[in-house]
Amino acid sequence: MPFTHAVFDLDETLYPASAGLMQDVARRITDWVQRHLGLGPEEASHLREVYVHRYGTTLAGLLAEHREKVDVEDYLAYVHDVPVEEYLRPEPTLRAMLTGIPLCRVVFTNSSSEHAARVLNALGVADLFERVVDIRALDFIHKPRREAYERLLALLRVSGPACILIDDRVVNLQPAKALGMTTVLVDGLPQDGVDFAVGSVLEVGPLIQRLLARERCGL
Ligand SMILES: [Mg+2]
Repeated sequence: MPFTHAVFDLDETLYPASAGLMQDVARRITDWVQRHLGLGPEEASHLREVYVHRYGTTLAGLLAEHREKVDVEDYLAYVHDVPVEEYLRPEPTLRAMLTGIPLCRVVFTNSSSEHAARVLNALGVADLFERVVDIRALDFIHKPRREAYERLLALLRVSGPACILIDDRVVNLQPAKALGMTTVLVDGLPQDGVDFAVGSVLEVGPLIQRLLARERCGL
């Protein structure tokens, strides 16, 4: 099955975790949980860890256990209200790498399309993605739930083997692998559910070129 789509996670995949952006988002998530559930800072951050472990994200946990207290739009706006442009700069090498990928480029994120647009604009690569599949497009079904990936494939109208999925979390790659996608872990070590592991997103372009060459040779 020929590859047609390169599907990238957004945060800490298209830019390194060391940028610090997500630490700021995490602080705002803890703050939101604290205020809306009436918890102290330590309880709120413990609850977040539990939810991320059990449900994949804090929002998924909040929706599962405190649906009545959660205004999803308020949550998304609040947690992403960070100065993205202070953390991220246009990255010409990222731009060159993405431009060289001769596949449909997609962003697949548990965040909102507004946050994705800000990040992609700050990195100077927004025009290189044909589509952003955000948490609303997923009907608030988060990665790593299998249904999120099934919905992605339905939205893109492709089957798993046509997609290469790139993400910085192993748990987000495993369901993709189970659906036949080729999986690439950024900034991690090879393990179950991971076809390829790269140190930086900049290595994804050359990797995809090798996969396409193998495909052309019928390997
Ligand atoms: Mg990520």
